[in-house]
Amino acid sequence: MPMPPYSEEEFTRARKEMIREQLIARGIEDPQVLLAISKVPRHRFVPLRYRAKAYQDRALPIEKGQTISQPYIVAFMTQALGLRGGETVLEVGTGSGYQAAVLAQIAGQVYSIERYPELAEQARTLLQELGYTNIEIRVGDGSQGWPEQAPYDGIIVTAAAPEVPAPLVEQLKVGGRLVIPVGSRQEQVLYRLRKTEDGVQTERMIGCVFVPLIGTCGWQEEGDPE
Ligand code: SAM
Repeated sequence: MPMPPYSEEEFTRARKEMIREQLIARGIEDPQVLLAISKVPRHRFVPLRYRAKAYQDRALPIEKGQTISQPYIVAFMTQALGLRGGETVLEVGTGSGYQAAVLAQIAGQVYSIERYPELAEQARTLLQELGYTNIEIRVGDGSQGWPEQAPYDGIIVTAAAPEVPAPLVEQLKVGGRLVIPVGSRQEQVLYRLRKTEDGVQTERMIGCVFVPLIGTCGWQEEGDPE
């Protein structure tokens, strides 16, 4: 990108280029996902000091030592949910609110849960400002899901879990999908689970690196006794 300050046109151009070079070139092909990403101003979700990097092929730091995921991973996980429109989706790990906005372009209703009140509040304010009316954000331990709004057509976990939290599988509809990174604190594999009448089908997708899911069905806070 040229030098700051950037115009909205420059950000829009950078976003188009990102879609072409980072998503389509790597096999993201669901037209609804590509359209959703084209509509969400990612630069608004990153801290001001990183705005020039908003459309780069990388995760970026946000407050509270957390991250906004790499655009490709957001696209990949959204595509893996297989949304067609109108679904009820749960996101665990609101962070900046960017993934929630992408989901809300396709789904009917998005519920998103975040453990840091400050991040939840910032995301809520921004999403409201951008005109989203189908996203509800709550503060809490998302490793327990959000049982009051269950069951869900899709659940997406954007933090790394040591294993698949049982409450999330319980809160999925039959036919629903759960996309979640599972592994160590350092690196994980992205899994897709499909709930069927007879149980759960599990599919390994790609390697990934996420910040940890901290909670009763996740990791303990760093420094806590294991
Ligand atoms: N989806 C986010 C976005 O679009 O910006 C990125 C999420 S960031 C990689 C992971 C988020 O999960 C962090 O904001 C972190 O605070 C949150 N988190 C970690 N453990 C959690 C838990 N048990 N419940 C809810 N949120 C959690």
